[in-house]
This record gives sequence, structure tokens and C-alpha cells, in this order.
Amino acid sequence: METQIFAGRTAVVTGGASGIGAALARKLHGQGAAVVIGDLDAGKGEELAAALGNGRALFHATDVSDPGAVAALIDRAVSAYGGLDMLFNNAGIGSFSRIEALSVEDWRRVVAINLDAVFYGLKAAIPAMKARGGGSIVNTASASGMAADFGFAAYNAAKAGVINLTRTAAIDNARYGIRVNAVCPGPVDTPILSGISSIPDLRAKWEDVVPMGRFAKPEEIASVIAFLASDAASYVTGAIIPIDGGLTAHTGQPNLYRSIG
Ligand code: NAD
Repeated sequence: METQIFAGRTAVVTGGASGIGAALARKLHGQGAAVVIGDLDAGKGEELAAALGNGRALFHATDVSDPGAVAALIDRAVSAYGGLDMLFNNAGIGSFSRIEALSVEDWRRVVAINLDAVFYGLKAAIPAMKARGGGSIVNTASASGMAADFGFAAYNAAKAGVINLTRTAAIDNARYGIRVNAVCPGPVDTPILSGISSIPDLRAKWEDVVPMGRFAKPEEIASVIAFLASDAASYVTGAIIPIDGGLTAHTGQPNLYRSIG
């Protein structure tokens, strides 16, 4: 059994039915937290909450692009478990298009789910955390919020917005005992990438640009997020943490060892 560092604490995980969010929900629950999974996917969300069990997990159907739904998700956690200690703004969707071909609707949808939802989460959670005397929030940004990718205009812009929103939220709330940080994963083996990474040769090319030469497992992202939420990171706020196998440490220039030896 893992050390129960989150015993007596309540967490809300958006996008908690799949991928990084599901790995995070399992990790937090395994370390003693009560976990509220907020997601659109009721099938997978209910299944995970039931599997976790112990009277410390529930699923709440949530569309994070709806501010009222996000407020209701936070209220549900407070009413079910007596307060809110941790919020993980993690739900997200991908997008790939040239700018001139990207519809206004698709732009707005990507920004609504990946960026606006983080604002809605902060807005609802901060008063609940102030009432509790503090708390910890971790936003899932992306390596794609730190630099640009071909065809990722909406996603790049939204995730860059998450990074600077994280910083504002951190400094605004530092004196209230609320820490706010963001993680920037590189490629992770989750359903969000399964469409493009199943294109022949693309997976190998993608792995090749990562200095570590591989995609992350969702658990490798969840463990860093859980650390940031824990008391072990008590002096960390406003931090933007790459978890990317070295991807954003690289300028993008060619690997000279392959030409020069
Ligand atoms: P995923 O597709 O496995 O999980 C995303 C979850 O978000 C799903 O359960 C989905 O149902 C949920 N979701 C989507 N729209 C929603 C909405 N409107 N309301 C509520 N829930 C919604 O993908 P993942 O890789 O686990 O993604 C988690 C986060 O990590 C996202 O913010 C994503 O942008 C980010 N991220 C992923 C990668 C990667 O390579 N997988 C890299 C960097 C950042």
C-alpha cells in the first residue's frame, strides 16, 4: 500500500475518466484522497469511480466548457466530502489544422475546453479553498504551450494561455495558502494521440524528436502532478514544469552525431 499522504483530503480531477487524468485519479486515491472525477465520458468515469471505491471516489458528469457545470462539480465535491483541497484542471482536446482552414467553431471549442475551462475551475475552486484555509491546484498545460507545433494553432494558443493563467492564479492566491502550478507533458500514450500516432511512420518520427526516444506513460505524468499537489512541494507555486523526456530542452536543430559521428 502507498503512503497515505492525501488522507482526509478531497480532489477534483477534470478529464479524469481517461489517460493522464485516470492515472492521476488512481494515484491520488491510492495515496488516501477522496476523488471526484469530472468528465464527459460517463461510461469510463463511472467504471473508474466504482473500481476505486472505498467510499472515496465518485463520478460527476461534467462538460468543462460550461461554467455552471464546473461550479456544480466543485459544489459536489464540497457537499460529498466536506471541502475541497486539490483541483486538477486536466480535461483537454487536440486540434490539427492550418489556420486558414480552421473554423471559428473549432477554434472556440478548443479554447473553451483547454483554456476557458481552467478559468472556470479556478473561479469555482478558489473560494472553496479559501474557506478551507488553503489548497493546491495543478493545471495540465503542454509542451505545446511552451513552443509551437505545425498545425496546432488553437491548441498552442490555448495551452500557452493556461501557462500564464497559472502564474496569475499563483501570485494572486499565494497569501491564501493556495498553490497553483502547471505541468507541460510532451507526447504521452493516451487516446488523445491515438489517431495521429497510429499513422504509419509518424510514431517513430515523433519518438525520434524526443531526446529520451519514447512517449511517456500516463503514470509518469500523474506522479509529477501528485508531487506538485503534495506537501512535499509546499514552497512551489507558479511553476511550469516540463515532463517531456527533454523535448523542450532541444532547439530543434539536427542531431549532429548522426552526420559527424
Ligand atoms: P485523453 O483523451 O485520454 O483524456 C482527456 C479526457 O478529457 C477524456 O476523458 C475526455 O472525455 C475528457 N474531456 C474532453 N472534453 C471534455 C469536456 N468538454 N468536459 C469534460 N471532459 C472532457 O487525453 P490525455 O492525454 O489524458 O489528456 C489530458 C490532458 O493532457 C489534456 O489537457 C491534454 O491536452 C494534455 N496533454 C496531453 C498530452 C498527450 O500527449 N497525451 C501531451 C500534453 C498535454
